[in-house]
Amino acid sequence: MAKTHETILEINLKSLEHNFNYLRSKISGNTKIMGVVKAFAYGSDSVKIAQKLQDLGIDFFAVAYTHEGISLRKGGISKPILVLHPQSANFEEIIQHCLTPSIYSKYVLKHFIASAEAHKQKHYPIHLKLNTGLNRLGFDPDEVNYILTQLNDTKSVKIEGIFSHLAASEDPGEKDFTIQQIETYKKVSQKISEGLHYKPTQHLCNTSGIINYPEAHFDMVRTGIGLYGFGNSAEEDKKLIPVASLKTIISQIHHIKKGESVGYNRKFKAEKDSKTATLPLGHADGINRIYGAQKTNVLINGKLAPIIGNVCMDMLMIDISGIDCKEGDEVILFGKEKSAEEFANNAGTISYELITSISQRVKRKIIES
Ligand SMILES: *Cc1c(COP(=O)(O)O)cnc(C)c1O
Repeated sequence: MAKTHETILEINLKSLEHNFNYLRSKISGNTKIMGVVKAFAYGSDSVKIAQKLQDLGIDFFAVAYTHEGISLRKGGISKPILVLHPQSANFEEIIQHCLTPSIYSKYVLKHFIASAEAHKQKHYPIHLKLNTGLNRLGFDPDEVNYILTQLNDTKSVKIEGIFSHLAASEDPGEKDFTIQQIETYKKVSQKISEGLHYKPTQHLCNTSGIINYPEAHFDMVRTGIGLYGFGNSAEEDKKLIPVASLKTIISQIHHIKKGESVGYNRKFKAEKDSKTATLPLGHADGINRIYGAQKTNVLINGKLAPIIGNVCMDMLMIDISGIDCKEGDEVILFGKEKSAEEFANNAGTISYELITSISQRVKRKIIES
């Protein structure tokens, strides 16, 4: 692979294909896959990722917000798109762009039905979101009768899917809680199906749910982080390939004396004569200040170098004492060769937060093979 001459986020579609095939091998042939491409496909490029997944035969997409779904439609995505967290102000656009709303509260149900009726819709597909213990979004189990009364009173919408979200599917220590969530989901969705006299598509598992709870795959699974190459465990990480690699170069090298400081507020003070390098990316690119102060490392010519001092808006500095390197050399923050999970964990956060934070200022480079 050609070395970079500036800060770029490489997005490897072959790695995406590998991850998709791996996740598909974990589910039965009848189970559908929903690719979660919210937040610019976890900080990569939502249209390019969704196009590739559509070519690979994915069944459904999910985004968090309505405008993310509209961007996919404008990018030529024709498969169904679930909007996980729409607001009532978005309902007209949802209908215009044939997006599927997640309906998670009485308020949202009432307003979506009114909107569908106003736009003369018949059997407009919606997915019901149930709260089974995450206590974030969703109907509580005791709201089933309300839902059924509303639904049986209108022909404008149709429940195409019923879903819920697991709170701790990656955590073996919370297995009992997860099993409880699965049981609640089964019971409540069955009660709704009986009241409707047809069976909507059931989906519950995210990536870790796919891996840890095969008995809970139902009709469809929703995967985000797995597609991008992370399995929330060292074991699974080995089987997946990170799709995004953040690379940059050394802009300038400094030789500093013991006692000199580096960067704003003189946060780093050299304990010995040192060699430092300045890199052309900073917190405005998504490398937040939590990664400074020697919490985490970057990779140069096969050697690890700590990020020192305060991360600046457009730059950060690293300690390259003892590393053979020169200005213009490539620096890898994370990617195939260096785990984003580790980069994030070292600073007290998780890969999800790191990769979705890479800002739109960083150029994306799509690698097809
Ligand atoms: C983001 C999200 C997912 C994807 O979860 P991963 O852990 O990235 O696989 C699935 N379902 C819902 C409701 C989500 O918000």
